[in-house]
Amino acid sequence: MNERHFTQEFPVPELDLNAKRILVTGGAGFLGSHLCAALLKQGHEVLCVDNFFTGRRANLRHMLANPRFEVMRHDVTFPLYVEVDEIYNLACPASPFHYQHDPVQTTKTSVHGAINMLGLAKRLNAKILQASTSEVYGDPTVHPQTEDYWGNVNPIGHRSCYDEGKRCAETLFFDYYRQHGLPIKVARIFNTYGPNMHPDDGRVVSNFIMQALAGKPITIYGDGSQTRSFCFASDLIDGLIRLMNSGPDVVGPINLGNPVELSICELAETVIRMTGSASQLVYKPLPQDDPIQRQPDITRAQEQLGWGPEVTLETGLEATIAYFENIIATTQRTVTEK
Ligand code: NAD
Ligand code: UDP
Repeated sequence: MNERHFTQEFPVPELDLNAKRILVTGGAGFLGSHLCAALLKQGHEVLCVDNFFTGRRANLRHMLANPRFEVMRHDVTFPLYVEVDEIYNLACPASPFHYQHDPVQTTKTSVHGAINMLGLAKRLNAKILQASTSEVYGDPTVHPQTEDYWGNVNPIGHRSCYDEGKRCAETLFFDYYRQHGLPIKVARIFNTYGPNMHPDDGRVVSNFIMQALAGKPITIYGDGSQTRSFCFASDLIDGLIRLMNSGPDVVGPINLGNPVELSICELAETVIRMTGSASQLVYKPLPQDDPIQRQPDITRAQEQLGWGPEVTLETGLEATIAYFENIIATTQRTVTEK
């Protein structure tokens, strides 16, 4: 293939002096894939780094032909040498089912991954954003959760590999900021859902929708009175990008989430109604250390980023249900064709 042929097939885009080279770790995952797409849309070059533990090629398919998009299979627990202007560090399984599958690797991903990405950012003097989590508050005794609350976290339980790994990553980010003057941004993400979630993810929104669409029992852990506040993916991605683009004084941590709080039973009823399913509720034991209530106080995000969620639960669920219906239809077509 000569160079001319190559150029014709993949035309080189106009030189954009505002375009940045941006690394997204965990870019093949649920949130990472939406972030890659949003950054490409803004005209940036995007390098997606992922070990495909929970990420999927299907999430990236629509971007693969874009000449400004590159995918690298790499595990962030190993050092990475690339040249970029900004780093979004999202690599880490987020579903309890996935992060408890190999808890040692989960802690390594958060801690070694943070060390490697911070080292990379330091060498390049690149801005780096950490996708932290509401799990740093553990099973909170303060409600709603503000960023100055230090949390109520079990250091030796089944969730600790994720919770403490993310807490340690935050510590590393703030020490690189104080010790090396590195430009950091830390977002504390609350439960987020939407298209591109893994259908077997094990998280509550994907479980309930997949179960409702299949007419299977909806699995409520505990009595379903525990609460969560669900943010739609597009709102969250907007918040992450605003945080990255904020001034040097804004470092976080900043809560990003939708403050509309509901019980898990209320979520189940909403999903059943919206899918028109005949599924019944079944009750299973509550997993250890499952937080009883969770709701973000987003005053800081409103004041410092001018950010707040716009997508209602109904609108977000509608899009998510359509996404899972499509996955089921595609799988059924593939099975029939075989
Ligand atoms: P996800 O599991 O869909 O995506 C995580 C991605 O990281 C996957 O593509 C996975 O393959 C990749 N990954 C995992 N370990 C890796 C490693 N060692 N090296 C390279 N890649 C690796 O999860 P998500 O919901 O998209 O979450 C993205 C980030 O946001 C995570 O850091 C998560 O902790 C954080 N977060 C998400 C939520 C949420 O509700 N979705 C809430 C709080 C925090
Ligand atoms: N949950 C549930 N049924 C499921 C999956 C989850 O009742 O099939 C509950 C879970 O116990 C928790 C809440 O839903 O109280 C949110 O769970 P998820 O795994 O989505 O996220 P996290 O617990 O990390 O907030």
